[in-house]
Amino acid sequence: MEDPTAVNYNSPSEIRRTVEALGLRLHKRWGQNFLINRGARRHIVSLLEPTARDTVWEIGPGLGTLTVLLLPEVRNLLAFEIDRGLIRYLTETFSEWDRLQLIAGDVLKTWKEHYSPQEPPDRIVGNLPYGSASALIGAFAENRVLAGRMVFTVQRELAQRMTAEPGNKNYSSFSVLCQLVYRISDRMQLKPGSFYPAPEVHSSVVVLEPAAGVERVSQWPSFLKFLRACFRSRRKTMRNNLLAAGFADALEADRLERVFAELGLDPAVRAERLSPRQLLGFSRLLQSQSPP
Ligand code: SAM
Repeated sequence: MEDPTAVNYNSPSEIRRTVEALGLRLHKRWGQNFLINRGARRHIVSLLEPTARDTVWEIGPGLGTLTVLLLPEVRNLLAFEIDRGLIRYLTETFSEWDRLQLIAGDVLKTWKEHYSPQEPPDRIVGNLPYGSASALIGAFAENRVLAGRMVFTVQRELAQRMTAEPGNKNYSSFSVLCQLVYRISDRMQLKPGSFYPAPEVHSSVVVLEPAAGVERVSQWPSFLKFLRACFRSRRKTMRNNLLAAGFADALEADRLERVFAELGLDPAVRAERLSPRQLLGFSRLLQSQSPP
């Protein structure tokens, strides 16, 4: 079932006509750039590897270009869409599909009430709106949202930030967080012409799978605080960033020195030189040495 709507999803003029006929306007601030490249849509679904047993989340279904491919493949589909006009359109277009649940509103606010760590969705997919993509991926990582597999289309620069290695200019606390929670691979590049309207940026399709053991990392909230503190100022050493953030007051600064020494690290190191695992190890050791 490629096209129940009689909208040709590969044709900019048909998309434009459909949007106009619905009395809708395309909103730049909601990143409404529709994927008009059929091969890319198919490839995204194949990267997701959905099965008939799966509960799948789709972020930003838009006019349903991916939804239409996903629905026949899965058990349940929850689609999060902010644009009420598109929600109306999707409700009508896919009215036959009981397995589709549309969640209206800002996904940054709505996802939590549908998420259970005991029963996470099996798959999450979305051509993410450029404006909310890093906030959403950051929120999923901070909350350790562990779907079996996630496939996201994001701005190329965001994919670079997610996969950057220590020492790279794109490496930040966001990279560390993403890489500790997920194994990430950049699987496909999309030019602006794959979308209508064409955005000003290039895109990447990234696949995220849960990193081994991440759900067992204890004292996760303290680690998140530690991580933010380490990268607070890029010009400062990690030691000074931690002191400035109150991780050890002047009297107990030697606690920090002991951790650096025990891990064989130069106390003048900047956080952006350390790998995600080194930072996690540092945080653990620091916590284990905290005064009672
Ligand atoms: N999936 C469609 C496609 O591939 O053609 C549309 C993708 S478009 C890049 C992003 C979609 O996300 C739009 O439908 C937009 O309305 C929706 N959106 C933008 N911000 C959102 C938010 N904060 N919460 C939920 N949906 C959002």
